[in-house]
Amino acid sequence: MSELLNINDISVSYGNIKALQNVSMHVNQGDIVCLIGANGSGKSTLLKAIVGQEPLDTGSITFDGEEICQAKYPLEGKKKHKALTTDIIVSRGIALVPEGRRVFADMTVEENLDMGAFMVRDDKLIAERKESMYDFFPILGARRRQKTRSLSGGEQQMMAIARALMSAPRMILLDEPGLGLAPLVIADIFGKIEFINKQDNVTVFLVEQNARMALKASTEGYVMENGRIVLSDKSSALLANEKVRAAYLGE
Ligand code: ATP
Repeated sequence: MSELLNINDISVSYGNIKALQNVSMHVNQGDIVCLIGANGSGKSTLLKAIVGQEPLDTGSITFDGEEICQAKYPLEGKKKHKALTTDIIVSRGIALVPEGRRVFADMTVEENLDMGAFMVRDDKLIAERKESMYDFFPILGARRRQKTRSLSGGEQQMMAIARALMSAPRMILLDEPGLGLAPLVIADIFGKIEFINKQDNVTVFLVEQNARMALKASTEGYVMENGRIVLSDKSSALLANEKVRAAYLGE
């Protein structure tokens, strides 16, 4: 299977805080890969780095064989970052579904979906994509003219996923899609994610604190502690791993 995303030895810091230290990972085309780790371990920072929103101290990131971010020290040893802008990274085929859903609360569902298609010029194509989102998430169709703040947490999460899909990405990055939601709602959302992966062949990179759901839904998994990858394996093997069971599955 061909490699779609390659993260090669990246480090990111916030002042003196080393949020990521020499992290290397890869995601193959068509897979669901998860990253699990406790609060503050660096998961969100990694996703921001992939979409060009945090400068790298070391390493580089490639998508479909092309470099999208790299660390660079051009002048007087001063740290300088070189990355494509987030808009360009999105247009290459990566879409981020941010933590806490970050929907535009004062906009309607429809307006939020329009925002997701910001770089699509063809109005007919935008309308078609919205209709297919309403077919896939019927609750969004029913609420299309409602302000997003009136939706439940689960509905907002679905809208955040639908908004990301409006750019017809090859890969989606999901930051804690289960956060703060009831177990049945989480199961529903994970079912949708698996369907999108299989049916539309969208590669998924999933960051979750809910390790059990994430490992069950994925084929490969990585474990992050204090900004470092400490374990990586097939998700089925991680589910059976004693250390993972004790630290992340509450056993
Ligand atoms: P969470 O599950 O809470 O989102 P996380 O695993 O995503 O956690 P990050 O948010 O990436 O972790 O944070 C990694 C480390 O970097 C933490 O120590 C955090 O306090 C620190 N950090 C994150 N963002 C900033 C920032 N903008 N400025 C300073 N420190 C930050």
